[in-house]
Amino acid sequence: MSKLLIFDLDGVLVDVAGSYRETIIRTIERFTGRRVTREYIQEIKNRGGFNDDWALSNTVIREFGFQPDYQEVVDYFQRLFLGFDDDGLILRERWMAKPGLLERLANDWRFAIFTGRTREEARLTLDRCAPQLVFDPIIGNKDIANLKPAPDGLLKICETCAPVESIYLGDNIDDGRSARAAGVPFIGVAPAGSTLAELFQAEGARAVIETINDLEQVL
Ligand SMILES: [Mg+2]
Repeated sequence: MSKLLIFDLDGVLVDVAGSYRETIIRTIERFTGRRVTREYIQEIKNRGGFNDDWALSNTVIREFGFQPDYQEVVDYFQRLFLGFDDDGLILRERWMAKPGLLERLANDWRFAIFTGRTREEARLTLDRCAPQLVFDPIIGNKDIANLKPAPDGLLKICETCAPVESIYLGDNIDDGRSARAAGVPFIGVAPAGSTLAELFQAEGARAVIETINDLEQVL
């Protein structure tokens, strides 16, 4: 029986404060004239059901009383993120695992990804930041019928790799709920003492760590 580490990508392997989170803030600002804080975005993520940043941006804009076309918001978001004429905010992403960590773990574990991104956007970042590592399979938001917190992505990965002992690592409450629904042990990534860390404990997380670099101590 092989062992499988399934990673959420954003906030676990990649720091997206300067990319996705900044893209959300600028998109909301474009349609409402208001610049919200990163803490505000985190509070909304903690409500659950907001793993999808397009849905989150649209919801906040509507909560502020504006009614733009959903797709128009998505298009603006994508233009900021990927960049059409110049560099997109995607290039501000930072790989969080210290050199050697995942290479050591790869001796005992196979790696997979279950992300709210599209598989293509996941690949862009993985190829740029960690071309030496193998993540297989990669399941994105268009590869499954139901998004997190539904278990579909994890079940699909476990089927592909069976029989396998697996663990899912995520940084969103919906990641924890998806893992519980799939019956996959979960390790939460959250600041110590945060609301999110408490939510993960309540969801029955096997462990809560502050960063991916603490992973070896809890495996
Ligand atoms: Mg995440």
